[in-house]
Amino acid sequence: MTPERVTGDWLSHPATQAVCKALEEAGYTAYFVGGCVRNALMGAPVSDIDISTNAVPSMTMEIAQAAGFHAIPTGIDHGTITVVAKGIAHEITTYRKDVATDGRRAVVAFAETIEQDALRRDFTMNALYADRHGDVLDPLGGFGDLEQRRVRFIQDAHKRIQEDYLRTLRFFRFNAWYGDAEHGLDEDALDAIAQSLDGLERLSKERVTAEILKLLSASDPAPSLAAMRATGVLGRVLPSASDRTFALLVHHEENLGLDPNPIRRLASLCPSLGQADLRLSNAERKRFDLLVDGQSNTMPPHELGYRLGLEPALDVLVLRATLFETEVPHSDLLDVEKGAEANFPIRARDLMPQYSGPDLGHKMRELEDQWITSKFTLGKDDMI
Ligand code: ATP
Ligand code: MG
Repeated sequence: MTPERVTGDWLSHPATQAVCKALEEAGYTAYFVGGCVRNALMGAPVSDIDISTNAVPSMTMEIAQAAGFHAIPTGIDHGTITVVAKGIAHEITTYRKDVATDGRRAVVAFAETIEQDALRRDFTMNALYADRHGDVLDPLGGFGDLEQRRVRFIQDAHKRIQEDYLRTLRFFRFNAWYGDAEHGLDEDALDAIAQSLDGLERLSKERVTAEILKLLSASDPAPSLAAMRATGVLGRVLPSASDRTFALLVHHEENLGLDPNPIRRLASLCPSLGQADLRLSNAERKRFDLLVDGQSNTMPPHELGYRLGLEPALDVLVLRATLFETEVPHSDLLDVEKGAEANFPIRARDLMPQYSGPDLGHKMRELEDQWITSKFTLGKDDMI
């Protein structure tokens, strides 16, 4: 049974209402689709707003600009215009149908109807629509699957994957976020995925990276990762990955109340990840290297807290406990906190003029090391 309506602040926001009204008043349709409708129906937070319309992209641009909104042709080749109103971005995409494919990106043409538009999407739960009053349209019967938290390909799984191999990774990502882990992943999908592994090589590293990081941001990606391993997908996209202790990592995170951080999880899943395997940003790579290094070195917890800061040091503790398959000792947590709060009591000027130039830096570091070794108990007077 399809519910009649969705509600939410995202839907009733005056800016979003104005964007939809502008399209409607010009004689076109405006239907919310994808994540916003799916999440609103599930009671999950709505993060971005996708709208589908029968206006062609140039018309959407014109209408949005005439209504005083900022319109950016972000994905004009696949029919998407981003319309920004009161700081809220609306991704507006013309109804599409898949006409051809290179397996990397579906090649598209515009479509006339919402039914055609629904058929080119990936999963039934992603093909639910709502108008600006919140009235839901369910052209493919996706609501039943959503209620059961079943991530199912629309029609033929095999064909859907051949059209766009990224859908293989999206399948695991959506299962991790919204699937029912107890019932397991859809068998038809897993069969089709296992038969289509070669296509994964054709995906750009940027798209693979984005998907993997989103997958690893789910509260518990362990069941999806296990299915990725079993189908051979994990071996293709992250050859050095081992998810053997991943469930233990998630267990430690839950005990400590840590956020589901994708870089921490990546450090556990494949510590020997090479530069070429994924396209991490510089900041992500830096954090990754810091955690992998901490995981394998023997720096004591109080020093980790002091040198790395609270969050990375806690990450290192849970990574070590996962690697060695132990619990995180409570005393280690206290030591990390203590280190993160400690302030070295000596300033350069305290050592001048006896020391200067390189000698000064050297002496500072020597005293700092002594102070750390003392677990921050030495005072200024003890050291000078
Ligand atoms: P979220 O934004 O929370 O990640 P979403 O479902 O909105 O989830 P998007 O990537 O924003 O995901 O895509 C919006 C919608 O576009 C999807 O719900 C789906 O209907 C369709 N879609 C996106 N990518 C694909 C794809 N590779 N193949 C088929 N349909 C897709
Ligand atoms: Mg979205």
